[in-house]
Amino acid sequence: MRRVSIFGATGSIGCQTVELIAADPGAYDVVALTGGRNVAKLAEQALLLNAEIAVTAEDRLLGELRERLAGTGVEAAAGRTALLEAATMPADWVMSAIVGAAGLAPGLLALAHGETLALANKESLVTAGPLLMGTAAEHAARVLPVDSEHSAVFQALVGEDISAVERIVITASGGAFRDWPREKLAAATPEEAARHPNWDMGQRITIDSASLFNKALELIETKEFFDVRPDQIEAVIHPESLVHALVGFRDGALMAHVGPPDMRHAIGYALNWPERKALPVERLDLAKIGQLSFRAPDETRTPALRLAREVMETGGLAGAVFNGAKEVAMDAFLARRIGFLDMAGVVEETLTKMSADRLGSAQITLDSVTQADHVARVRAGEAITAIESIEA
Ligand code: NAD
Ligand code: MG
Repeated sequence: MRRVSIFGATGSIGCQTVELIAADPGAYDVVALTGGRNVAKLAEQALLLNAEIAVTAEDRLLGELRERLAGTGVEAAAGRTALLEAATMPADWVMSAIVGAAGLAPGLLALAHGETLALANKESLVTAGPLLMGTAAEHAARVLPVDSEHSAVFQALVGEDISAVERIVITASGGAFRDWPREKLAAATPEEAARHPNWDMGQRITIDSASLFNKALELIETKEFFDVRPDQIEAVIHPESLVHALVGFRDGALMAHVGPPDMRHAIGYALNWPERKALPVERLDLAKIGQLSFRAPDETRTPALRLAREVMETGGLAGAVFNGAKEVAMDAFLARRIGFLDMAGVVEETLTKMSADRLGSAQITLDSVTQADHVARVRAGEAITAIESIEA
């Protein structure tokens, strides 16, 4: 039986992982499940999967979690230290599905214990790609991509030699505002940005899809995971979200991965890898679909992709700064302190301000990444206050 743990079990990716595991009884032995504020769901999942331990990241919720799990045999724990300890418990497979920079440290710990890390938390690769992949290599551990585009590329590369790859094309739905005129974007609300046309995902990634920051993170993720040059990576708008990525080889062939927009495919592929088990996803009727369309992204609408290219060229800690500033800008957008288009302005200004800190040549350690993330959040906060004072 495969021993598995899920970090971020109560989120969108986490719940779908729980669903797949529950649907295949006897195949997995569940070690740790972690969550945030939703301890009711966490307790329910821990009972469903008969986990060894359930951990909430929130110290203050320990009492409630304990109460819910009293007499069930499932251990309850709370707080950041308990969460990190759970990452050191022996397992074969660990799902990294915490959202944001908080997902990096547990993933690194799991890899340092030689476990296979199924990586949904894209921020880990963006902020600390060389550290994450280096830790995996050092401990003969493996990272399997769960982001749908990267899972698609990974699958297109099975049996292929990476040196024969000319380019990698990842697709973008275009998000909630792909058909909005540019003039309307400045007044877009968080509720409007959080309505995705094709995918059902967590709130933050859905808003990142509308601003193309999600695709920006994924360009960086592609560079770090597959170790290709920035000029080999492209993003294309594909409104149907059926082709997830394409790999172009030096003989001119393009291998496309096609499937319904359903994360259970990428999660299930990583869960069972290298085996392919049957998964409960829709089978596409191509004649009914009829057409697939593609168009170049309009970078004048949102600068996120251009900023990602700059980050890839700079390397080093630029990704940590980019992500930290983006997370703070999103918090300010959610709190209605700044507008939708201001988010990119905040990120760009933070990168510009911090470029003198020699981001590109800095060493990437958990400490240096944490420090860069911290400073980026402070600088981004200043940029947000400046925008507010102009608008006031
Ligand atoms: P979500 O917001 O639905 O869930 C996040 C999970 O992380 C929850 O369990 C939450 O309790 C936990 N969490 C949040 N902050 C935490 C903290 N500080 N410490 C510990 N736990 C914390 O997010 P999601 O949409 O499931 O996305 C998870 C990750 O997967 C993100 O990095 C996202 O970019 C990536 N991803 C998601 C999808 C998708 O379809 N949802 C697709 C591709 C990649
Ligand atoms: Mg994706």
